Amino acid sequence: MSLLYLCGSKIFMIQFILFGPPGSGKGTQAAKLAEKYDLYHISTGDLFRSETANKTTLGLKALEYMSQGQLVPDEITIGMLKNKISNLSEVSGFIYDGFPRTNPQAEALDCLLQESNQAIDLLLSLEVPEDEIVKRILNRGKTSGRPDDNDEAIIRKRIQVYLDETSIVFEHYAKLGKSRHINGIGTIEEIFERLCFELDQICK
Ligand code: ADP
Repeated sequence: MSLLYLCGSKIFMIQFILFGPPGSGKGTQAAKLAEKYDLYHISTGDLFRSETANKTTLGLKALEYMSQGQLVPDEITIGMLKNKISNLSEVSGFIYDGFPRTNPQAEALDCLLQESNQAIDLLLSLEVPEDEIVKRILNRGKTSGRPDDNDEAIIRKRIQVYLDETSIVFEHYAKLGKSRHINGIGTIEEIFERLCFELDQICK
């Protein structure tokens, strides 16, 4: 019995999207939030990198897109996410990091959640200016071992793809009153506190 999250006196399962452009700090913050709120952290980027490292058919296909700074096609991404979620039990909520990245992905996630009478509770979008993002990713590239973090042209392509294809997902959940902007500039702890403040609101 664990599909429920005890938050104050209320019990429910949290479905939370951490949103924002590449390099905005989603991965770092998601790991901290997952620990504090006992959420299962799903990063589609990490899932793809693990598939790639294991040289699976899916991983090799995904690599073709990732190395160019493009999105992996929805069909592959949605299939992988469904597969991951359906194999999980004993979790008290989810934090989605890097998913959904297109409107069809958002719709697929909504349908999947609906099957168990659930819905996204909150989307928090980390706001960081483009030049700061490029600086952060190039810096991360020195140690991340990610080829897509080492080439400024690929980084700028990823930001463009975010603006063209991903940023509209914010509106999808804003229409439902679920989306909020968060200032993504500051120390890791400062940004973490801003995110926690918003998450605490939905627990009240
Ligand atoms: P970042 O947020 O720094 O771009 P990620 O680890 O989230 O890093 O993603 C790395 C790459 O993996 C993306 O550029 C894209 O090619 C692929 N990817 C990750 N998540 C998705 C998704 N939801 N849909 C399509 N492609 C994805």
